[in-house]
Amino acid sequence: MNSGLLHDPGFFSAHNSDQHPENVHRLSMLGNLGFGSFVGPRPATDAELQAVHSPGHLQTITAQCLNGGGFLDPDTYCCPESEIVARAASGGLIDLCFGVLDGVFANGLALIRPPGHHATADQAMGFCLYNHIAVAAAALKNRGVSRLAIVDFDVHHGNGTQDIFYEDDSVLYLSSHQYPHYPGTGSTGEIGRGKGVGFTLNHHLEAGSGDDELLAGYQNHLLPRLAEFKPEFVLVSAGFDGHADDPLAGLNTTTAGYRQLVDLLIQEAGQWCEGKIVFVLEGGYNPRALADCLGETMAALQVGSSE
Ligand SMILES: [Zn+2]
Repeated sequence: MNSGLLHDPGFFSAHNSDQHPENVHRLSMLGNLGFGSFVGPRPATDAELQAVHSPGHLQTITAQCLNGGGFLDPDTYCCPESEIVARAASGGLIDLCFGVLDGVFANGLALIRPPGHHATADQAMGFCLYNHIAVAAAALKNRGVSRLAIVDFDVHHGNGTQDIFYEDDSVLYLSSHQYPHYPGTGSTGEIGRGKGVGFTLNHHLEAGSGDDELLAGYQNHLLPRLAEFKPEFVLVSAGFDGHADDPLAGLNTTTAGYRQLVDLLIQEAGQWCEGKIVFVLEGGYNPRALADCLGETMAALQVGSSE
C-alpha cells in the first residue's frame, strides 16, 4: 500500500509575506515529490472547522482577509487568500486522514501552510489561523476513532491543540518542546482537566539540547504513555524548527535525529494501530534543513508503508 501525500501549489505559493519567517520560501527547496499517492486540497466546511473553532473565529479570519489582510496578532499575518489556503489545508488533511483510516493509504504526510497548532478555538496566534490537526482529530472522532494520539514535536508547545482537547479522554496529547520558550505554555503541571486528566503530557527540552535529549524524552517519558493508551490512530504535529540550523529557536536537533524520531513514531504506530499515522507539517524555518527533514520523513513513511 502507498503512502498519501497532501500538497498543492497553493501551499507553496500563496499566503506569503517575505518579511515573515513563515513564508512561501520555506518549501522552496523541497526536491522531487514523486512520493506516494497525491491527495489534493479541499475546502473544509464550516461544520468541520466549527468542530474545534468558534463561529466567531471563522468570521474574524474571513473578515480580515476580505479587508485585504493584515496582522491578527503581533506574530500572525494573513493575506487576502489566507483564509482559502488555510481552509483548504484543513479539508485536505481530513481527506488524507480518512484515506489512511479506510486503508486507501498506509500512512500520510501533509505538506501544508500556514501551520496550525497554536490556533485555539477562538484565536489565531503563532502564525496559525486554523488548527488543522485538531480539525482532523475531531473528524476522525466523528468517524468513530475513540483513542487518538497527537504527538507534537515542533520546538514550540502546541498550546492550541492542548487547549482544544484539554478535557477530552479520547485524545492523548503528547508534546516535546523547548521550555521556557514561546508561547509560554506546556509546563509539566499541565496534565488535562476533568475527565481529560492524564491525557496531556508535556516534555521539556532545555535550550541547547540535541538529539540524545530529544530521543530520550520520547523513549523514557512520552512513548510509555502512548503504549499505555494504545492509540487507534496517530497524528503528528511535525515541526522541524528544533533543527540546529533553524533561526527561530535554540535546540540542536540534527536531520539524522529527526529521522530517528520519525522512525520511532512510525514503529509505534505499527505496533498499536496497523501503522495508521499521519505527519502534519507545522514549523521549520530554514528551507534547506526543512527540505532535508521532510525528505527523510517521506523515506521513512515509504519504508513504513511496505512493512
Ligand atoms: Zn514551531
